[in-house]
Amino acid sequence: MATDYDAPRKTDDDLSEDSLEELKARRSDKSSGVVDEDETEAAEGFELPGADLSGEELSVRVLPQQANEFTCSRCFLVHHRSQLAYTTKDGQPVCTECAA
Ligand SMILES: [Zn+2]
Repeated sequence: MATDYDAPRKTDDDLSEDSLEELKARRSDKSSGVVDEDETEAAEGFELPGADLSGEELSVRVLPQQANEFTCSRCFLVHHRSQLAYTTKDGQPVCTECAA
């Protein structure tokens, strides 16, 4: 009785194991595609910060401006407030060097 019940069960297990292995094989095929996607994503993530960095390094160097500093509208250099000659009607600061 028990043997009768066990026998078909084992066959069932074997069958599902077979299909599982088939699934696994298919999955590994798919996973290779997923890996490709990950690589593309990783490459993009790697490229973006690099591109951002070069662009940011430039602006961060020129633009950071303290409260006591200003960027001359003519030479575009950051000067201390004490070097501010005047401010144009548009509110553009001009340093003493450019005003001279
Ligand atoms: Zn200037």
